[in-house]
Amino acid sequence: CGIVGYTGVNDALPFLLGGLEKLEYRGYDSAGVYIHTDDGHDMLVKEKGRVKDLEKKVVNCKMQGHSGIAHTRWATHGQPSIENAHPHISADGRYYLVHNGVIENYKQLKADYLSDVVFKSQTDTEVAVQLVGKFADAGMDTLSAFRKMINLLNDDSSYAFLLIDAKTPGLLYTAKCKSPLLVGVSKTANVVTSDAMAVLNLTKDFIELRDGEIAVISKESVELYDAAGQRSTRQPFHLDIDP
Ligand code: GLU
Repeated sequence: CGIVGYTGVNDALPFLLGGLEKLEYRGYDSAGVYIHTDDGHDMLVKEKGRVKDLEKKVVNCKMQGHSGIAHTRWATHGQPSIENAHPHISADGRYYLVHNGVIENYKQLKADYLSDVVFKSQTDTEVAVQLVGKFADAGMDTLSAFRKMINLLNDDSSYAFLLIDAKTPGLLYTAKCKSPLLVGVSKTANVVTSDAMAVLNLTKDFIELRDGEIAVISKESVELYDAAGQRSTRQPFHLDIDP
């Protein structure tokens, strides 16, 4: 399973698909990609099987845009299927989320907060995006809603999350705990990935997120917040390897 995200000056789709191909070694049973297109459409394509199968499906879609997220799934909750493939969407269609890991208390969260929501998948992940949607609906800004959702996950859970709010598609919201996640920085784009190998064609400069930390990423900046919401900064490290 693997995650890639892109926000920058170039076309996001080729970068995301190329990244997914390089993450295939992590195991997968399905894959998906979300792009907010330049003409303002939210395009979501998911497919069972290999990244190549997703690519075949994407060929016929107009998916030109400068930001997006993509995922290869290794099912833990819910069988491998198109519905269960990521990205998952909030009920109002505003939030798109990919996740690596397991939300151990998802049934409890569903019962406590989301009894009125119609779910589209059998995954633990969908609970996370529905919670963000619910909290935003109640008036929270996206960063606060994302943080509130993360704080509700029990200690046994693991996650690397990558979220887009379709109202601000140039921003990537990301966080991790016990699952790998790196932010790659460059002059033309900032990216998110489970493994540096997937994005070395763009950059060798990375910021490693700490467990519990949240990053809000635009094409020009990477803002880090600790679990308490305090803003912090960290210089990227340079990875000295050849792709
Ligand atoms: N638990 C999630 C699912 O089954 C994420 C799996 C993964 O890490 O790919 O969809």
